[in-house]
Amino acid sequence: MPESPLTPTYDPAPVEIRWSSFWERRGFFRADASGSGRAFCIVIPPPNITGSLHLGHALNNTLQDMLIRWRRMCGDNALWIPGTDHAGIATQNVVERQLKAEKITREQLGRQAFVDRVWAWRNESGRTIISQLKKLGASCDWSRERFTMDEGLSAAVREVFVRLYDDGLIYRGERLINWCPRCHTALSDIEVEHEEARGKLYHIKYPLADDSNLFLTVATTRPETLLGDTAVAVHPDDPRFNRFIGRQVRLPLTSRTIPVVGDPILVDREFGTGAVKITPAHDFNDEKAGQRHQLPSIAILDDQARIRPSLGEHGVDADVLADIAQLTVPKARARVEHWLQVRGALLKVEEHTHVIGKCYRCRTIVEPYLSPQWFVGVNTPSKSSGKALAKEAINSVRGGRIRLIPEGWANNYFGWMDQIQDWCISRQIWWGHQIPAWYCRGNDVECCRPACIAPIVALRAPERCPHCGSADLVQDPDVLDTWFSSALWPFSTLGWPEQTQELSVFYPTSTLVTSFDILFFWVARMIMMGLYVMKEVPFRDVYIHALVRDAEGQKMSKSKGNVIDPLEIMNKYGTDALRFTLASMASPGRDIRLAEERIAGYRNFANKIWNAARFILMNLDGPRQASPIAERTLADRWILSRLQRCIGDVNGSLEAYRFDEAANRLYQFVWHEYCDWYLELIKPVLVDKESPDSAATRQTLVDTFEPLLRLLHPFMPFITEEIWQAFPHQGESIMVAPYPTAEQRYQNETTERELAILQALIEGLRKYRVDNGFAPAQKLSVALVKENPELANILIQPMVSRAVVQFARLSHPLAVNPTTPADAIRIMVVLPGGQHIELSVQRPQESVDLAGYLAKERAKTEKRLGELAAQMARDEQTLANGQFLAKAPPVEIEKIKARHREAQLEHQTLRDKIQSLDEREQGVS
Ligand SMILES: [Zn+2]
Ligand SMILES: [Zn+2]
Repeated sequence: MPESPLTPTYDPAPVEIRWSSFWERRGFFRADASGSGRAFCIVIPPPNITGSLHLGHALNNTLQDMLIRWRRMCGDNALWIPGTDHAGIATQNVVERQLKAEKITREQLGRQAFVDRVWAWRNESGRTIISQLKKLGASCDWSRERFTMDEGLSAAVREVFVRLYDDGLIYRGERLINWCPRCHTALSDIEVEHEEARGKLYHIKYPLADDSNLFLTVATTRPETLLGDTAVAVHPDDPRFNRFIGRQVRLPLTSRTIPVVGDPILVDREFGTGAVKITPAHDFNDEKAGQRHQLPSIAILDDQARIRPSLGEHGVDADVLADIAQLTVPKARARVEHWLQVRGALLKVEEHTHVIGKCYRCRTIVEPYLSPQWFVGVNTPSKSSGKALAKEAINSVRGGRIRLIPEGWANNYFGWMDQIQDWCISRQIWWGHQIPAWYCRGNDVECCRPACIAPIVALRAPERCPHCGSADLVQDPDVLDTWFSSALWPFSTLGWPEQTQELSVFYPTSTLVTSFDILFFWVARMIMMGLYVMKEVPFRDVYIHALVRDAEGQKMSKSKGNVIDPLEIMNKYGTDALRFTLASMASPGRDIRLAEERIAGYRNFANKIWNAARFILMNLDGPRQASPIAERTLADRWILSRLQRCIGDVNGSLEAYRFDEAANRLYQFVWHEYCDWYLELIKPVLVDKESPDSAATRQTLVDTFEPLLRLLHPFMPFITEEIWQAFPHQGESIMVAPYPTAEQRYQNETTERELAILQALIEGLRKYRVDNGFAPAQKLSVALVKENPELANILIQPMVSRAVVQFARLSHPLAVNPTTPADAIRIMVVLPGGQHIELSVQRPQESVDLAGYLAKERAKTEKRLGELAAQMARDEQTLANGQFLAKAPPVEIEKIKARHREAQLEHQTLRDKIQSLDEREQGVS
């Protein structure tokens, strides 16, 4: 027998290194705009340069790679564009932490030096994630790797900014925005994470200015903000308070009086005290109320969320201000509470749960903050076309030009887009695209040039102010939200603003693969920008996958210690095992609960494929004969037919983005149909090398296993390439070989039914053996009680009759014998389709010690029943313990309940078994 060129066991590491570099060296990942085939393009969701591969990336990129490899093998001109995102705040934070360790601040370093330092960090560490993606097998066209801050993409950013500005869709305005006092920057609405927090509700007395016996009670969770109050609102229809509308109240801790206004929007009569303070500079609802009543805004905090010392200008009492100036919010709040008490203005304080917003990057409490910012007016009709960005983006999904998969996400999309607010795009940090707007400072000298107040928005730094000719210009210090550049990703990576061939061939791109948590941050904005700039949607399909959680359904986090590191997993089990696991679990809309055992299971699957390949290779010597299908053995005809079905199913599942179905179908086919049945059935055929059947079977092995490898390739690229290269094949690499498509001519219903009958017969007899405790060496004498023409037709084939004898361990081939011997019993076997056949089984000469076997089974079963009873009793005690239930985390309780339910079920099953043992023991004795 010739030595198989495959090593005895599969060792993933050297295989992965070998083929990765081969594929890249040979340029198989590259796509050419002038290439043949239908264009199929995916743009990668650019990972942050601060990132390191986690399971979310692994899932996201495995699915993209499967699509790209599949479409490439199908003959498409498949392009997968890779790249990274500069990740403004996240990256700035990383470098600031480094500076902190060196005891310097970015201000000490200065802007240019700081930005240089971030670039240095990026060049050194910012491509880690790229090498990790390569390890995953990602077949991106690496020659086209882009970065959101590279020159081309920066040009695209400036171009779009200027266009939107000229078209009236970008404006600068003084607005209340979410401010992170730690990151020192504005955040967009979706960058704020809301959570419940325990706090207090303060009831404060606002006496009427002209009658201090009368007062309004205002309740607030943020008493320090009262220093910025500019009115109190009551409901105009509230008979208790509407007579106060138009009068003034004295604002506690200040010398100011503020008006009472009637506002049916801000005040809910049914809720609270009936009077609401209005602080336009510190609350989004109050800002709107302030606009309704033309109230001034008084900002009480500086940009680090500390009390401004200048509040004396707004009448704050000197002693109070001296106490709280420059304090942070929590400290100021405590002092204001103290002062309110001292002044007799505090009526009561209650415990209160309320919702607070935190920065999504650093978890600092976000403050509403009044400052000049840049906005994209998403609901504003543009000057040029009269269309609004949000409306167009809604229509593209509603009209089916973009398909969200699973389609349930469309409702979330519409719900969010219907309420979308203007997008605050300026960030007060240094790392990012600096806003292409300049201000004229010539104006400072000659104050009466109103034109110079407007910013000069331009692609390149202007030399002189177009209004006054001054050369004293300064660029806006802010940078753009990191999502601004990633919103342009589908066309900027294809070369826009240049009119490239890539754009005309690959835009709109085909499929976007993304997780749902960036549907709004990113996907919705790409749709708006794509439609605005390119007048066409950025992609046709958006496949939205779930999050990867731990086996208990918990989010993975370092603090919980439940993180599975994909890099470790790849080293331990092989990349293909990880990829196959993720694919097999990618059910639509469901969170993936990943346990390491699953991955170990698919490592075994890789080994199964490996061993099958070795078996086949070792049996390939000898003539191969491509006999007509009809002349091949039942097993050969059957596996050819089943393979075609599998090919059809896998292609269909991939078309429908059902990666899980495709993977599970392949697993079942390879493991059970191919290895368990087909390879076992043909072993005896292969022994006689010279027979025509043997030659035809060797041909069938090549004809089935080689396409099976191609079918598996997008899921498990490395092992399939390694084996394929050792097999008879055509072409240079499996990754550029054609993907199998189902061929009708191999499919044969009759053949499949015949083999299903054979399987039922063998399985029925095996079950009988197991149930009755026969040792493998004991051969049974079995006969058919009645003639069955269909079965006879099958059994007449030597391969079949031999298989029954061998697999069911019979003493002689199955034949009809209507006279049942006295010591035989009759058993029934159900065939596919519900038909029964009756068999008579003669007790073998050296009869089994049935009594001994039954006694052993009984002992084993009773032991397990005892264990279950003890465990159930313990769990019942725990679940009856009120203290435990009050303190234990809900997951823990759920776990115990589930264990208890399972134990009950198993207990019942074993009791049934004891009963059947009872019956059989009576029969024996
Ligand atoms: Zn922050
Ligand atoms: Zn000027």
